[in-house]
Amino acid sequence: MTATATTTAAATVSGAGTADPTATATVDPTADLTGADPIDDPGAHRVLTGDRPTGPLHLGHYFGTLRNRVRLQDRGVEMFVLVADYQVITDRDIADRLAEHTENLVLDYLAAGLDPDRATVFAHSAVPALNQLLLPFLSLVSVAELSRNPTVKDEIAHSSQAAVNGLMFTYPVHQAADILFCKADLVPVGQDQLPHLEVARTVARRFNERYPHADGSAVFPRPRALLSEAPMLLGTDGGKMSKSRGNAVALGASEDETARIIRGARTDADRRITYDPAGRPEVSGLVLLAALCQDRAPEAIAEEIGDGGAAALKRTVTESVNEYFRPLRARRAELAADRGHLRQVLRTGAERANAIADATLAEVREVMGAI
Ligand code: ATP
Ligand code: MG
Repeated sequence: MTATATTTAAATVSGAGTADPTATATVDPTADLTGADPIDDPGAHRVLTGDRPTGPLHLGHYFGTLRNRVRLQDRGVEMFVLVADYQVITDRDIADRLAEHTENLVLDYLAAGLDPDRATVFAHSAVPALNQLLLPFLSLVSVAELSRNPTVKDEIAHSSQAAVNGLMFTYPVHQAADILFCKADLVPVGQDQLPHLEVARTVARRFNERYPHADGSAVFPRPRALLSEAPMLLGTDGGKMSKSRGNAVALGASEDETARIIRGARTDADRRITYDPAGRPEVSGLVLLAALCQDRAPEAIAEEIGDGGAAALKRTVTESVNEYFRPLRARRAELAADRGHLRQVLRTGAERANAIADATLAEVREVMGAI
């Protein structure tokens, strides 16, 4: 199982919204999903994505997946957003400050533009039938397949736990249940999730082969990953920006905090700023961040800074981030005043998700002979 975009059915969505006539969707020709692309025929698709409630969402989430979720929602694609609370305990002993992190995730979603009237936002622990799907799904995947998953290996490398627990290995299969319970066919994710998406596709294919409906039709779609123009935004240490790795700028960070974090970002000794992601990942990560915020090509940003060096680059990045996120941060501050509303969004979302999960589990039990 490899994590390359060529072996994984991946698509990208770009463009700023329904009103943007230049908006495009690039769909991998190897994708086995037939029909129109997600933008041309929004009614034919369902999206599911999620995040672990391990800390505040950061710029990597925003440019890696969150912005695409909002675009798809705004184009009329049905949207499910899941708080993956069980997955918190894959790489740590306890789910610390879970309620607070969960509510803050919802806060970040709403501030970014997800609309709870159109998007179903819920925690997967609140949906028992979803979790029950894990059992039949686990029977479809070999232990060898689970142990060679590159994302699982990377997460183990960064885990604070002395011993790797079983939930870490079953994480991708649990994620297959997250996606397939609502029969989602599009999953906007970052690059690190591509191997997990492969597992979800494998589970769907094997389930459909082993347990077709009486008329031969398939129970599950084969979901595709949707990558953004920033499938892996780097953090201040030059590694993947992550909630748990102390290298992130949070969406809700203050302007001063943003400046301080970016000032501390790692760069290199070459004064001239260029955009060369393979050769100069740290500098290029910063250039890309400014480019995403300014909606310009990274090469143009690098050219503009030229011999200004790391200090000028960091000033540009800080100003770009603070300017781009000012409206989102203002909305976030307003929404933060009403914690009750955040909890209500989760309750309503869980009700909708439970109705769908119960129906899918009933269907699964029927084709499996009522196990
Ligand atoms: P943790 O460190 O707790 O694992 P995380 O920052 O990796 O947190 P997740 O909740 O694991 O965040 O990931 C949520 C979604 O955001 C996934 O689709 C993931 O691919 C995407 N994502 C996370 N980090 C980045 C990043 N740096 N660039 C692009 N996408 C990202
Ligand atoms: Mg992660």
